[in-house]
Amino acid sequence: MAEAALDRCLALARAARSQQGEALARTLAALDAALTAAGARPAAVAGAEDGFLADQLPVIALDLAGYLTGWNRGAEALFGYSHAEAIGRHALFLDADDSDEPGVAELFMEQGGALVEVRRRKKSGAVIRVAMALSMIRDDGGEAAGILVRLSPVAEPLSEQDKVHLHARIIEDSDQGVLITDAHERIVSINGAFTRITGYTSAESIGHTPDLLRSGVHDAELAAKVRAAMQGHGPWRGEIIGKRKNGELFPQSVTISVVRDAHGAITHTFSLFSDISVHKDAEARMQRMANYDSLTGLPNRSLFNHLVDQMLSEARRAREYGALLVIEVDRIGAVSDTLGHDIASELLCEIGRRFRLALRDADILARIDGSKFAVALPHIEKREHAGIVAQKLLATLAQPVLIGLHSLRVGAHIGIGVYLEDSTDTASLLRYADIAMAKVQPGADEGFLFYSAEMDQRAKDHLRLETELRTALAGGQLELHYQPKVSLRNGRIVGAEALIRWRHPERGMISPNDFIPLAEETGLIIEIGSWVLEEACRQIRAWKDAGLAMPPVAVNLSARQFDRRLPARVLDVLDRHGVLPEQIMLEITESLLVGGADNVIAIMNELVAMGLALALDDFGTGYSSLAYLKKFPISTLKIDRSFVIGLPDEENDCAIARAIVTMAQQLRQEIVAEGVETAEQMAFLRDLGCDQLQGYLFSPAVTGADFALMLRDGKRLPVAR
Ligand code: C2E
Ligand code: MG
Ligand code: MG
Repeated sequence: MAEAALDRCLALARAARSQQGEALARTLAALDAALTAAGARPAAVAGAEDGFLADQLPVIALDLAGYLTGWNRGAEALFGYSHAEAIGRHALFLDADDSDEPGVAELFMEQGGALVEVRRRKKSGAVIRVAMALSMIRDDGGEAAGILVRLSPVAEPLSEQDKVHLHARIIEDSDQGVLITDAHERIVSINGAFTRITGYTSAESIGHTPDLLRSGVHDAELAAKVRAAMQGHGPWRGEIIGKRKNGELFPQSVTISVVRDAHGAITHTFSLFSDISVHKDAEARMQRMANYDSLTGLPNRSLFNHLVDQMLSEARRAREYGALLVIEVDRIGAVSDTLGHDIASELLCEIGRRFRLALRDADILARIDGSKFAVALPHIEKREHAGIVAQKLLATLAQPVLIGLHSLRVGAHIGIGVYLEDSTDTASLLRYADIAMAKVQPGADEGFLFYSAEMDQRAKDHLRLETELRTALAGGQLELHYQPKVSLRNGRIVGAEALIRWRHPERGMISPNDFIPLAEETGLIIEIGSWVLEEACRQIRAWKDAGLAMPPVAVNLSARQFDRRLPARVLDVLDRHGVLPEQIMLEITESLLVGGADNVIAIMNELVAMGLALALDDFGTGYSSLAYLKKFPISTLKIDRSFVIGLPDEENDCAIARAIVTMAQQLRQEIVAEGVETAEQMAFLRDLGCDQLQGYLFSPAVTGADFALMLRDGKRLPVAR
């Protein structure tokens, strides 16, 4: 199967979803061509097509008589012949005249799939060496149908003259200064970098001795070492101070060595040097800044500023968010006044330790002032996360600090400045965080404040939702509803998907789209996921006890639930409820597969071996390739609703849906179309070859009781043509 071609279809179909106008037309034309390539051609051509579509590496294909049947863009670039010029000609036309090497076909017969190196002539007449990897193209019946040749150019050895030229060029262009003297220590050659670094031109240096650059600051010992190297006592590497033409001294890193003739006599000496004044300056600057707070051992304000500068420039490059937190610890002054300075100091050290432990390694923590700490958070995915970190830091102070006989309780308030929104430079971010901190009302609930009011609102909504979700989980506000999947052959209910609902006491029913992402972010999804599986099994058992013949129920799994202990956890739930593994299907998304770890496959295999089925949800929206998907033991593909919406009126959408279904069929799995709302969509998908449908056309997700009624009544979807 021409997987590369199919993957290209898949990529084009995905791209088409977000395009309009001309761009869409172009994509669809490409999609059309790719589909033909993927399906409608004989195997020999399709096999060769693989390589053509895959990349720009030169690939050609020949029939068994040696005539060219394939010629990709890489081959065009390599030889200079266009596709039209090459196709149909005999491969001999590429042979270099002076070469008596065998042709490709002979080579193949002699060498099989081996890699061979040959000389070939380009359209321009130039002769090049190329390495060829040959492989047989077989047709559907396994018969040899042609030869696929992957080519890569091989470097020709240089002539002596070219070599001399090249070396001269490299020396001239080098960043390192080069100085060459003759046996009498007179400068005979320098390069451009020498002039740039020292200020001396060729005219000003040739004929002089290297003393031209002598700074006079070195002692006799070093001078002796340099001299010894120039007299051929082995090469010498080190740092010395030189003097530029303008009198300025500069540190340089030097290598000095000699060149000898055939008799061993020194003909030349050379030194290679680079100006390291820049590094030296940087080193000194680092030295000045690299001072840490002597009390807590944390970076001080100046190091913090420096590190944050770096962090912000990285964030700028990576287009990430960053945040600065300023934390004022309360009551340090009072502790110092009443219990003494030493106790207050110890208290600060312990707080610094607790903060450090609560943060990630990459986060920067500093003590910037008496009782003030600062934290920089690089790489936060969302700005709201700074609020979560603030909460975590405040929580570290919940436990009293024990110092000697004293149990001390302190609080803190935190101000947050967000990189990009609030400011892009360290100094003003710190100032804004400081301003926000000063605004935190004593006794306020949260104890932290964002500089921007809007950000503050967002972060706090986020945190509130998280708290409420925990309550919902504990307080029975979550429900599981069931949406039927029906067969497109007979219209019968053949499965159900369990979909979670949150019945909020004030806000009514909340869609999983509004809380599952948050649950994933905060890790609450683990508990929610366990609840869902538990509840689904409880319901399946209850249906069974009521005498209902239930089709399998699909449960959505978050990637975060997928770990080595998952099979054991699932088994435990099944056992406790007396539910058979065949009753459960697990729906996963591509994000899980893309992580790509071997253990994901191992866990899936374990689940499948237990008797559970796996479905890939939202198929077509991710990025994995077909070859990749084939590695996973998935039995069902669910085509995402976005590919169904425009059917069957929008021609473009039809082409895309067709491509997606074709892809799915290549994987030879059961295909479920999601979100089918109209009879026309249903008919179109049925004709394309989908197996099942799930959507409002038949039913939305309903309560367990309503689902049982539907099943009992034998509700069916009219699917006949
Ligand atoms: P999903 O797994 O792809 O589920 C399909 C979604 O499409 C459901 O939305 C379903 O109600 C909706 N849908 C079905 N038929 C139609 C239709 O004809 N038209 C329209 N417009 N929509 C239709 P829902 O229930 O809001 O769930 C949204 C997503 O939340 C799910 O997408 C799934 O990713 C996630 N989710 C739901 N329950 C759970 C759960 O228990 N665990 C996890 N991890 N995720 C869940
Ligand atoms: Mg699903
Ligand atoms: Mg889906």
